[in-house]
Amino acid sequence: MSSENNPSSSSASRSSKRPFDLLGRSLHDLRISVTDRCNFRCTYCMPKSVFGAGHRFMPRKELLTFEEIRRLVSIFVSHGVRKIRLTGGEPLLRQNLDALVRMLGEIDGVDDLTLTTNASLLSAQRAEELHAAGLRRLTVSLDALDDGIFSSMNDMGVSVRPVLEAIDHAERAGFASIKINMVVQRKVNDSDILPMARRFKGTPHIVRFIEYMDVGSTNGWRLDDVVPAEEIIRIIDREHPLEPLEPNYAGEVARRWRYVDGDGEIGVITSVTRPFCGACSRARLSAEGRLYTCLFATRGFDLRSLLRGGIDDEALANAIASRWRQRDDRYSELRSEMTLSEGATTEERPRIEMSYIGG
Ligand code: SAM
Ligand code: SF4
Ligand code: SF4
Repeated sequence: MSSENNPSSSSASRSSKRPFDLLGRSLHDLRISVTDRCNFRCTYCMPKSVFGAGHRFMPRKELLTFEEIRRLVSIFVSHGVRKIRLTGGEPLLRQNLDALVRMLGEIDGVDDLTLTTNASLLSAQRAEELHAAGLRRLTVSLDALDDGIFSSMNDMGVSVRPVLEAIDHAERAGFASIKINMVVQRKVNDSDILPMARRFKGTPHIVRFIEYMDVGSTNGWRLDDVVPAEEIIRIIDREHPLEPLEPNYAGEVARRWRYVDGDGEIGVITSVTRPFCGACSRARLSAEGRLYTCLFATRGFDLRSLLRGGIDDEALANAIASRWRQRDDRYSELRSEMTLSEGATTEERPRIEMSYIGG
């Protein structure tokens, strides 16, 4: 039984002083960006117009070290965090990532450790190293099966093949069920919804169709570009009937559906059409150690200065808890309430890019 369901477990007892935010939400997930760099320039995330040759990425010394990440994770776990997702930028660009996986996996209370990657750098050896280090869950981003669409979306001319090969490597290394993330943009890759569903139907892998979000301020988001999850489900259901599944746990981000013929499962992430801020228990740590309490936050709380200034664990734990207690973020719900009219863009305010804060 996982400690989440077992109130007598040691990890549960450690969380007796869990901080709650202003809307009564606890802290359960931590997404850690291990680098702001990426070898892709997905047009919806790191467009070349902004992340081109002149863009200044963080110098190495500004990144949190693995030791600093481990220390922070131990403190987050004492506040109730059970799930850690390593992300970026492209996390596989960080050298020796398997060493970090091993270090975090050894922390008592980390029940779920996972990695989100574009997988283009996931060689057979790297997949084996990560699995051997204790990683058991993997999310691979793949926006299309059509080479023309995929290479123009990643804008680096990378074809689908290395990503599909990486999925094979991961299977062989022992990753049993892989999540495949597809961000759906109207008239860009919506023609690949059905091919993606067909490709992974009958496998243990779960495609998660993600509504294109207005993160950051560089992707020129318009509501017209979003394909609502209901429409995605209708498209697939016409060819392969689907039925809804119960969530695996309260607050699960993806809505689950299974094929009626028993041939597997898909998910949809409805951040735009059915926001899920009410149950949002996620914090994000940027590669330079800033804590963000929302994907759409404008400012992060500088934990690296505290770490490097010699703060003790108790004071650091108090600082993190205090920041969480002040949290009132519910951006996606507010966006919905703003009743975006057709073709609307979102409000003009600076936001943090997803490649910086981690998806
Ligand atoms: N580079 C890795 C990757 O692509 O898997 C990890 C970082 S990426 C920021 C994490 C996830 O965020 C990816 O699945 C990506 O497709 C998703 N993402 C990025 N920008 C998005 C947007 N505007 N709307 C929805 N999802 C987005
Ligand atoms: Fe890179 Fe991932 Fe953003 Fe694409 S979505 S640009 S792969 S960080
Ligand atoms: Fe959580 Fe912010 Fe997303 Fe709402 S908008 S679900 S508060 S990250």
